[in-house]
Amino acid sequence: MRDGFIDRYSGGRLVFPGVLSILSDTLPDVFPYQDNWKTDQCHQAWWDLFPSIDHIVPLAFGGTNDEENLVCTSMKRNTAKSTSSLEEIGWKIYPAGKLPEWDGMLLWFWDYCRRYPEALDNSYTRGWYETCRDMEAVNTYRAMWPLAFLLNGENVLCRKCWKGYYRPFNPKFKINHSYICDNCGSHFQYD
Ligand SMILES: [Zn+2]
Repeated sequence: MRDGFIDRYSGGRLVFPGVLSILSDTLPDVFPYQDNWKTDQCHQAWWDLFPSIDHIVPLAFGGTNDEENLVCTSMKRNTAKSTSSLEEIGWKIYPAGKLPEWDGMLLWFWDYCRRYPEALDNSYTRGWYETCRDMEAVNTYRAMWPLAFLLNGENVLCRKCWKGYYRPFNPKFKINHSYICDNCGSHFQYD
């Protein structure tokens, strides 16, 4: 969350693990996942996109668990870096991302699980859903996010019925503070 699902060693985008889990559950033949991450049985994207936490200075070399020593990176880079220092392998640290610009498809994941609850029959997916549900940072983000997307003119799924989309209450206004679901008629309001 803190790093905005950006790989701090490459600047590339990472994806919330629950999204990968849904893909593997839905398309096991083309997007396989293997518990022990065996490279021949686990799709390469798991290695490239799964956000893991790395110690910039490895614990074995006096690194700490302090926040400043922790960064988000892909499983592949995490494994490749292993116990090397950044200087040794010539890597640098890229800036963290901002959630409204890229959220690792976190909210896509949340919407998907709400619309297709059968996805939670998969225990790995369910675990990530519960993480998502229980994390305060996620909840704060979820509460503020419709606004950012509405202001961008994007389609935002209704928080109540999870079927309709918010439309401006009065489309004649250039700036809208009130939106209404085109399915259930519930309001989304901000000041
Ligand atoms: Zn609705």
